[in-house]
Amino acid sequence: MKNNVPDILLIYTGGTIGMVKDYKTNALKAFNFERIKEKIPELNLLDCNIETVSFSNPIDSSDMCPEYWIKIAEIIEERYKEIDGFVVLTGTDTMSYTASVMSFMLENLSKPVIFTGSQLPIGDLRTDAKENLITAIQVAATQENGVGKIREVGLYFEYKLYRANRTSKVSAEQFEAFESPNYPHLGISGVHLIFNDQWINKADNGKNLVVRKKFDSNVVILKMFPGISQEIVEYILNFPELDGVVLETYGAGNAPTAAWFINSLKAVLERNIPVINVTQCIGGSVLMGHYESSIQLKQIGIINGKDITTESALAKIKYLLGIDTLYKDFKIEFENSMRGEMS
Ligand code: ASP
Repeated sequence: MKNNVPDILLIYTGGTIGMVKDYKTNALKAFNFERIKEKIPELNLLDCNIETVSFSNPIDSSDMCPEYWIKIAEIIEERYKEIDGFVVLTGTDTMSYTASVMSFMLENLSKPVIFTGSQLPIGDLRTDAKENLITAIQVAATQENGVGKIREVGLYFEYKLYRANRTSKVSAEQFEAFESPNYPHLGISGVHLIFNDQWINKADNGKNLVVRKKFDSNVVILKMFPGISQEIVEYILNFPELDGVVLETYGAGNAPTAAWFINSLKAVLERNIPVINVTQCIGGSVLMGHYESSIQLKQIGIINGKDITTESALAKIKYLLGIDTLYKDFKIEFENSMRGEMS
């Protein structure tokens, strides 16, 4: 143990980053993550103490679900007082969902929680895991006036630090797998690790961390596509237990104007079920009423998701329903930024 340096907790949940290639069979297999320092001895050179905790059965992030979100949040909650920064390793496939959810779960967060992973396993010759991991730890260990520089949930990947709830996975091939099209990156790693001070969350209300662990599971993402059938839309929206809908619309929030479509949305709203309009474009914002094809959505009371990502909208609707937000307050709550997830 080094003295007077930040204490960092590395939480390994699974994913490519914790795998090595078995050169006999060519297959990827998980290695014992508790022994990460043997794989990357450079970790010993960092100016911090590193502890690791690993899921006993690491998962592919395709299997990520609320049960595991709670597990990650509880590990953070348990060690929150004595640890200065957290680095969470997950598979990249659903990392933006998990990290967005975490930003809502961890209320009054005032320490760094940095997600990272990799496109190639740690044992691969050309791996991106080493840089991602080492720099994510450095980010989590960076302090200013004796406290963590980052006081929010971040995602570090391929030389860039992002606000996690602004990201989406955009490539299954490039090392630059994530983007944050509607919000500038919080930092960049070159010869120096440079933070973009003006975009980093500075708010600290001094309140204690509260971990929200309840989510509503009866929500759906309904993606518009040309020719979407009335029967299917009605079938989904008539689901008796439905509690919320994220409607992925075209462009600046546009959707079919057909009477059957508007009527089925109206019927959902009459059941006091919130419907959020988000764009299926990777960048840009919903502007309801800008085109004729979104005027009716605005008139009937669809909620404006503005420039939120689908991943974050899903996290936010599950969280707001989980804390029993009343239907009459839902629009105001959703349309206000709570964790810097929308402009
Ligand atoms: N399928 C893997 C996962 O998301 C891919 C990765 O780790 O990047 O768990």
